[in-house]
Amino acid sequence: MNDCLFCKIIAGEIPSSKVYEDDQVFAFRDINPQAPVHVLVVPKEHISSLNEVTAENAGAAAACLRAIPAIAAAEGLADGYRVITNCGADAGQTVMHLHFHLIGGRKLGEKIV
Ligand code: AMP
Ligand code: ZN
Repeated sequence: MNDCLFCKIIAGEIPSSKVYEDDQVFAFRDINPQAPVHVLVVPKEHISSLNEVTAENAGAAAACLRAIPAIAAAEGLADGYRVITNCGADAGQTVMHLHFHLIGGRKLGEKIV
């Protein structure tokens, strides 16, 4: 997937502000933060979106979810946070590599659900 922005970030070909990494997960600061803390948590394995999660690659997606509480704690989000994944055009997904927005650091008011 050499045309994928987030694969290039994971490979270090494009710079990012990394906050966490393990064998399956890479996390870095969003370039256009929507809150004091806005981290993108992505699987190292290229999965285009939630629609492409399968029995075979679900472990990579789950590894992101497992990493999020530790990242949130390291970012000082003891009072809570929000996790969002945009899937497809109607949700406004712009980068076709599965990612979880981890957002916090202020009272989050704009609730959809
Ligand atoms: P989405 O709209 O859900 O696909 O989210 C894509 C996110 O990637 C947006 O919040 C962008 O601000 C962010 N983004 C795009 N390019 C970069 C980059 N080079 N480094 C960090 N974040 C980026
Ligand atoms: Zn990718």
